[in-house]
Amino acid sequence: MRTGKAMPAVVMVIGGMDPSGGAGLCADIQTLSAMGCHAAPVVTAITVQNTVELRSFQSVEASLIEAQMRTVLDDLSPSVVKTGMLVNREIISVVSSVLGKHPEIKVIVDPVINSNNDERLSEGSLIVPLKKLLFPVASIITPNILEARLLAGKEAAADDCAALLSECNCMITGTHAESTKVINAYYQRGRKLREWIWPRLKFEYHGSGCTLASAIAAGVAHGLDMEQALEQAQQFVINSLWAGFRPGHGQHIPGRLCHDDVFTN
Ligand code: PLP
Repeated sequence: MRTGKAMPAVVMVIGGMDPSGGAGLCADIQTLSAMGCHAAPVVTAITVQNTVELRSFQSVEASLIEAQMRTVLDDLSPSVVKTGMLVNREIISVVSSVLGKHPEIKVIVDPVINSNNDERLSEGSLIVPLKKLLFPVASIITPNILEARLLAGKEAAADDCAALLSECNCMITGTHAESTKVINAYYQRGRKLREWIWPRLKFEYHGSGCTLASAIAAGVAHGLDMEQALEQAQQFVINSLWAGFRPGHGQHIPGRLCHDDVFTN
């Protein structure tokens, strides 16, 4: 029983199940738990994958996703929602419409289109529905440079992509860029506010984007302003990557529960 401790902040995470435990909701739940939050997971898809490859996935009916969200929101009061794999236009539509009725909730959008292994995690193009329906309710979107280029519709550098995505605030990550260091940048309505430069690690990690977006959600749920939340989240991610391990034959998995960077409230 918890004694003398504040209630952990509740964060709803909406995304897919990855049975290897590396990405998706497992990554979200581990990150949020390590950072002192309670995760309320809404399942959008069951993926069939391991650390080597994505074999297939099946989406959950949009009406069932809506029912999961509404049922949790009838009872719990998350201050933040983080979205990940949303699969198709119909799911984006119900998720945005439920969130649109809760303007008090801050929304962190990881615009999952492909996995880190470059395999499709969507049915049809998500670019238009994400931009039209979900981004308007987002406090921040967290594309990697490849996703930013797809969303911007241009093979451009991060600054140019951000300018083309100026209807929302974004953090564009540089893990997939060609540079020797990893450069992550925070843009408010297209204007760069801050840049962070990190060493490039030698392995590829399954679920690092999910970890980053959930860590941002945890910081926001704890009342940090966005810049502080981004700073803390990147520190959490880098520590998790340093503590990463290779449980199979493919990508490494971030050691989200394997380092001391664990927050309590
Ligand atoms: N969500 C799910 C369910 C996934 O399976 C994946 C990748 O496989 C992702 C999100 C994105 O993962 P990453 O954080 O590696 O970009």
